[in-house]
Amino acid sequence: MTAYVSAFDLFSIGVGPSSSHTVGPMRAARDFALRVPHPERVAHVTCELYGSLGATGIGHGTPGAVVAGLSGFAPETVDPVLVRDAWQEWADGAPLLFAGVQPVPFSRNDITFAPFTRLPGHPNAMKLTVSDTKGVELASEVYYSIGGGFIRREGEADAVAAESFPLSFATADRLLALCAEHGLTIAEIARRNEESRRTSDEVDAGIDAIWTAMDSCINAGLHAKGLLPGLLKVRRRAGAIREQLDNEAGSGKALPGDWLGTFALAVNEENAAGGRVVTAPTNGAAGILPAVARYWVEFVSDTDDPRPGMREFLLTATALGSLFKANASISGAEGGCQAEVGSACAMAAGGLTAVMGGTPEQVENAAEIAMEHHLGLTCDPVGGLVQIPCIERNAIAASTAVTAARLAMRGDGAHYVSLDTVVETMRQTGIDMSTKYKETSEGGLAVNVVEC
Ligand code: SF4
Repeated sequence: MTAYVSAFDLFSIGVGPSSSHTVGPMRAARDFALRVPHPERVAHVTCELYGSLGATGIGHGTPGAVVAGLSGFAPETVDPVLVRDAWQEWADGAPLLFAGVQPVPFSRNDITFAPFTRLPGHPNAMKLTVSDTKGVELASEVYYSIGGGFIRREGEADAVAAESFPLSFATADRLLALCAEHGLTIAEIARRNEESRRTSDEVDAGIDAIWTAMDSCINAGLHAKGLLPGLLKVRRRAGAIREQLDNEAGSGKALPGDWLGTFALAVNEENAAGGRVVTAPTNGAAGILPAVARYWVEFVSDTDDPRPGMREFLLTATALGSLFKANASISGAEGGCQAEVGSACAMAAGGLTAVMGGTPEQVENAAEIAMEHHLGLTCDPVGGLVQIPCIERNAIAASTAVTAARLAMRGDGAHYVSLDTVVETMRQTGIDMSTKYKETSEGGLAVNVVEC
């Protein structure tokens, strides 16, 4: 078995605010709609959202994503505006174009919420059913949104986990051994795996497109102002801070760390607003990698063309993120925020170490440092929205990633706690964590902050 997950699965270009609650459900609903053999016979469609999807689905835009997916839209190409208000503003009985071909009367209460029903496959579960004009069921499927936008249909294996690659590894130890055996960096191991599916030019072009989307998201957030959607009325900060930093240019006041945090805020505010975001490895944690990568471009690197370094950064992060996905979790509903923000921080720390010239051992060390200090971090989004604490948390984690990389670069890669040990600790801690702290908004800040 290999842990490796392709960069093109791990970093998917989609919509906010959540990979598990928006992107995954949209993919599941679309997959279901396109599988129904005779869509022209469909007269009624329903969706039940279970567990965490039922608990925080409304705040995370899940119903709108289901409507968009049932209509045949994909997260990669859909206009985010079509998803944002698709369910909230739906007129009861208005036609939904099922699978993009069949008009079906649809009402908001055709989507139901069952937060206290937990299916065995995963805390994020949903059931989709279609019936004909006589009420006879035509098809029904259960899907799991297993984190990072990945989905699994009941009864099927995780398609991504079943893939094979030429340079397989199940642990960080094995990854380092592969690097030593072949004389390759971690990014080169990842590249060999990617090139078993695509030409070298296609890998480069694909990674460049991912970075362009990340960078565009930062820029969009840096130039936006106003309130984020939702009851909390959270004010966007990235645009205002960017103006302050621009005004302080040349004064010595605006430090690289100020920009680092602002880049992360920019992405996560775009995500919270339902904008175009790259899942990295989830949407709630989508700001950390782009912020650290842009920090490297603007304040560390002296290259005129950041693309080769960015490919190394993202391929290194892919190999590390694969380990978290395979051996623990990248889903907040499964492992708490340590699985989302912790994983992203470790991926960013490893990527930064690689482009600063670190050895594979130093990369592994940086990822381990970054993850170790996120162990036990809970997921408790206020109001079920991916805003508080998520947005600021990405800025803090970006700074932790830079610190972890710098510490690792000052050593020789030798260290006490291995990355594999930390990944296993994260898995066990996730199992022990109360469901109150796993994207249900039933504990922590979510119950102690009064919603306006
Ligand atoms: S608290 Fe962390 S895991 Fe939970 S929604 Fe926010 S970013 Fe995601």
